Parts: sequence; structure tokens; C-alpha cells
Amino acid sequence: LIELKNVDKWYGGFHALKDINLSVRKGEKIVLCGPSGSGKSTLIRCINHLEKIRGGTVTVDGRVMGETAKSVEGVRRDIGMVFQSFNLFPHLRIIDNCSLALRRVKKMPRDEAEKAARKYLDRVHILEQAEKYPAQLSGGQQQRVAIARALCMEPKAMLFDEPTSALDPEMVKEVLDTMIELARDGMTMICVTHEMGFARQVADRVLFMADGEILEEATPQEFFSNPKHERAQAFLGDIL
Ligand code: ATP
Ligand code: MG
Repeated sequence: LIELKNVDKWYGGFHALKDINLSVRKGEKIVLCGPSGSGKSTLIRCINHLEKIRGGTVTVDGRVMGETAKSVEGVRRDIGMVFQSFNLFPHLRIIDNCSLALRRVKKMPRDEAEKAARKYLDRVHILEQAEKYPAQLSGGQQQRVAIARALCMEPKAMLFDEPTSALDPEMVKEVLDTMIELARDGMTMICVTHEMGFARQVADRVLFMADGEILEEATPQEFFSNPKHERAQAFLGDIL
């Protein structure tokens, strides 16, 4: 479903991604981890073309990214993204945050868009907050709204960039539980996270990045019990 071939990304003179190769099948769950500055966010931002790459190709569902403006538009529609900061529109109610793209991008009539939005708010167990504004919700609730908003577009895959790292500890679980449910429903997911319990439970593969390279790729069992690369050993030593 998602394929990166020989991807190189530079920020000016800084080589942020070095010859990245990654293939993600439909339904697969990938956890991406690694020290700060290793290029995790850059990698997932390249997938939906929030960052332009210098070399290599990114293919999503058969479309080579960036070849045409249409490919970018299509992929942004097919891939949902959830960030560390929830990025909700503060002046819009929850229901409007979720239904906006359906009305603007998919040209759905308002009642139909709201019905779809309510379905996904229900799925992340937050339907009762639909009429509120983002500031009236806790961080964990806001992040679940962000997940529901992405799901409204019926994406083929979801990208998560440290979705729980801005949350107070007591709210981390509710967001992870939502992500676990999504994984169980068969969603294709790439998650940048240091939540190793989550990785153990849902990841098919854990990728470890450092200095713009994927240094190790393993099942969670292998990775946690027997990390091969010394950078991975040091990293796990720091976080566990
Ligand atoms: P963190 O765990 O802190 O989120 P990360 O693994 O997500 O780190 P990236 O944000 O992908 O790391 O950044 C990788 C490297 O690229 C870092 O050294 C960073 O300073 C650099 N970088 C990221 N964005 C830019 C940018 N817009 N311009 C220049 N350099 C950048
Ligand atoms: Mg990052």
C-alpha cells in the first residue's frame, strides 16, 4: 500500500533521510522509534508529501507521489494524519471540526457529513462532546477528536506522529486504547511513538531510526528482547 524506495531528503545542506526503503502492506502496523532528530517525523511527512524529497520515490496505493498535483491531492485524501498537537480548529465545534473536510473536499451535504462525523465520534467514544468547542475538552479527548476527524475521510492508512507525547499521563491510555481498537479493525498504520506497550501489543514490525537511517527492523518481541544495533540497545536502555 505504501512504498518508499531509496528516499533521500535534505533540509538545505542537512541530510535528513538517507536512502530509506520501506514497504507497508495493507493492514500492517508499523511502529517507528528512535532518538530525537533521527528523522521519524520527516519520514512520515514525506509519505503524504508534507515534505518534498530530493531522491527516490514514494508510492501510495499505486500512485507515485509528486508526479502530478493530483497524486498529492489523492494521497492526502487517502491517508489520515494525527500529530502530537491536535491541530483542531478552536473556533469550530467538535462536530464541525470533523465534518468540515467532508463538506469542503468531498462536497457532502451538511446533514450527511454530520451523520458520518457522528459515526466516527461514536467510534472513538466521544459522541457526547460533539457540540462543544476544542478548548472545553481534555487533551486526550481532543486527540480522539483528531483521530475521528481523520477517520471521517475513510483513509486507507493512518499516520501518527507521537500522538500521546503532549498528553498528561492519565490521558495517554484512552488515546492508545483508541489506536489499539483501530488496529484491531484492520487499519494500516504507521505510528511514531515511544509507547512500547502499544508497540508490543499491535506492531507487526518495529523500525528503529537514527541519523536519518533505518538501522533495525524487527518484530516487537525480537526488538525488545534482543536489539541488534548498539544504538538501538542504548535507546531502549534510555526509555525502558
Ligand atoms: P523528534 O523525536 O524530536 O520528533 P524526529 O525523529 O521526528 O525527532 P525530525 O523532526 O524528522 O526528527 O528531524 C530530523 C532532523 O531534521 C533534525 O536534525 C531536525 O533538526 C532536522 N529538521 C527537521 N525539520 C527541519 C526543517 N524544516 N528545516 C531544517 N531542518 C529540519
Ligand atoms: Mg518528530
